[in-house]
Amino acid sequence: MVSLRFYAELNDFIAADRRQRDFELASAADVPVKHLIESCGVPHTEVALILVNGEPVGCDRRLCAGDRVAVYPAFLGFGLRPPLPAARFVADAHLGGLARLLRLAGFDTVYGNRLADGEIERLAATEERVVLTRDRDLLKRRAIGHGCHVHAQQPDLQLREIVARLDLGDRVQPFSRCLVCNARLLPVAKRLVSDLLPERVRDGLDSFHRCPGCQRIYWEGSHWRRMRERLQRALAATAAAPAVTATAATADAATAHAATAAAPPAAAQPAAGNCSGTFDGACATSRTSRGTR
Ligand SMILES: [Zn+2]
Repeated sequence: MVSLRFYAELNDFIAADRRQRDFELASAADVPVKHLIESCGVPHTEVALILVNGEPVGCDRRLCAGDRVAVYPAFLGFGLRPPLPAARFVADAHLGGLARLLRLAGFDTVYGNRLADGEIERLAATEERVVLTRDRDLLKRRAIGHGCHVHAQQPDLQLREIVARLDLGDRVQPFSRCLVCNARLLPVAKRLVSDLLPERVRDGLDSFHRCPGCQRIYWEGSHWRRMRERLQRALAATAAAPAVTATAATADAATAHAATAAAPPAAAQPAAGNCSGTFDGACATSRTSRGTR
């Protein structure tokens, strides 16, 4: 038998009669501690620190009878895992709204509603992407080094949760990435796209960006302004709430957009709208676009 205790929000994953207390568990000889922790329902990606008899250990540490295991969640800046390699993500099929908001905030996010678990695992391993999911079994896959079990159910709150948990506030680069295909946007001369623009947009604006992937054209229209406000609200309550402006390092789409960005009141509440269907209004691929300004 070994003794276990899970701390803080890790208790959300385990059976009610095991929460906030030590409990005994039968363990076969020479079993890695990762296996024992995940058998209780806690994905290894949610764990930052494991102590066995008071000493920090890795996930592969074998346990012996009588060991006492203490398991802690990913407090910021505290843990055994290597630091997040890059703010790159792969979101599972149920998190399309969050994926679009992450792209809106400038984060490289792979998403597809037909993305199989095996492909998500492969992308996590080969491209060092953080897996975002509400499926705890997916996070138990060994090749997934970094992942987040997303607790919130509404996309704006999910974005807030991820930005706060991974301390991403200073990495936000709004409007620098295509919301549809994830490519980084590039500035484009008005004369090269003017034939594709609605007349009122062509007459009223001079700054445009184009996606090199899907060729959509983006401009600062009414949808863009609503999305900017929504993003600002969603991030307002995070520890390092950024203003929705571009950084000096962003020499592309976000730089131009940032020129008119303004921070809303800090006490603003998150938007209740659904992300899907809002971003098409800010881009155009042809004369039939629903883009407005
Ligand atoms: Zn695109």
